[in-house]
Amino acid sequence: MGFSSRCDQFRRALRHPVLVRNRIRRFVSGLKIDSMFGGGFSFLPTTVAVSPTLKCNLNCLTCGLKQNLQYPERMPEGTHFDREMTLPDMRLIARRLASFRPVILISGGEPLLVPDLSEFVRILVRDQHMYAGLLTNGHFLGEHAQALLNSGLCHIYLSVDGYGETHDSIRGAGAFQKLETSLVKFLSVCRSRRCDPPAITACITITPQNQLALLQTVEWLISLGLTRIHLKHMVSIPMELLSAHNSAVRDDFDRVHWTWGEGLRYEDINITALVEEIRRIKLRLKSVPGATCEITPDLDSRGYREYYLERKGRRADPCRMFWKTAFVYPDGNVMPSNICYFHPMGNIFSHSFEEIWNGDQYRFLRKRVIENGRLPVCDRCYCSHGLWS
Ligand code: SF4
Ligand code: SF4
Repeated sequence: MGFSSRCDQFRRALRHPVLVRNRIRRFVSGLKIDSMFGGGFSFLPTTVAVSPTLKCNLNCLTCGLKQNLQYPERMPEGTHFDREMTLPDMRLIARRLASFRPVILISGGEPLLVPDLSEFVRILVRDQHMYAGLLTNGHFLGEHAQALLNSGLCHIYLSVDGYGETHDSIRGAGAFQKLETSLVKFLSVCRSRRCDPPAITACITITPQNQLALLQTVEWLISLGLTRIHLKHMVSIPMELLSAHNSAVRDDFDRVHWTWGEGLRYEDINITALVEEIRRIKLRLKSVPGATCEITPDLDSRGYREYYLERKGRRADPCRMFWKTAFVYPDGNVMPSNICYFHPMGNIFSHSFEEIWNGDQYRFLRKRVIENGRLPVCDRCYCSHGLWS
């Protein structure tokens, strides 16, 4: 992590002391003391992602969610992902999570389609003193600007695929215009209120469509004053890998149900050009005071070959995802991941989070993860690095 990123973290910790507490908990989690207790026990997670809805106004080429939701047979038994959370649901979730105050990532679908989303953020941040971030495609930021700023929202993770037509080629015609208009409005409301706005991280997934337009995208973001950049290498779990995985594992519990980035082909990435593009972005951001650039995973020259040509990821074993992070879906089901072991562990509407987290299902899962070690699909894992970890 670079000096700017550390300064950025330090500034955020000063503004949100709850992050310091969380950082200490992450450090303790990293010591893996809970694994020594055996029996699948875990300390409570440091991050909980909550999806109040899986609906979205867009239909991105790269969207794993949309690709999977159209197949009812890919939905695990006992889930109702077409449901949308109501305000009482969100109140209940906030109360249940407040006992240990993890970092909350509000995700989707597009969360701003849910009425009362700002009220949910307000309860999390102002009433329950948690750190809440919002993952959004940005189309509704402008119209919700006042309510979001009133809510105390701490962080916005903005999905951007490119500038102009590049963005549209992935997100659909007119998407860039809508994003830009909404974003400009949001930023202007922030300025007019003279308030401390939420941190904004622009998250750019590298794809064949935008690989050579990344610097142009970053220049556009800089021109808007957005200098916190997170580049993510694309993830693709096509049907073939999913089938190979499923035939290598032992039973239904270990099976993977969801593909991811089905239309993305690693061979369409021009590695030499991409390495150069990223070098130029790093250089450019170094010249901007306070700018940060995170890359997930941050590959060295051998890493690029492994990632794009040999399709191998580098990941420490065993995977600690199920000791650190949980996902709450719109029907209240707590899921361990959105790739592997995609089974409901319990429902937060009917049980406390603590009961679920160290309940029979989760403890069985953790023992299974240790037993299984690395799974074939781990090489292409989206969850074990970056935002979710
Ligand atoms: S904005 Fe996100 S959730 Fe919506 S279609 Fe695009 S990738 Fe999927
Ligand atoms: S690395 Fe990813 S796919 Fe593998 S066990 Fe962890 S969360 Fe699952």
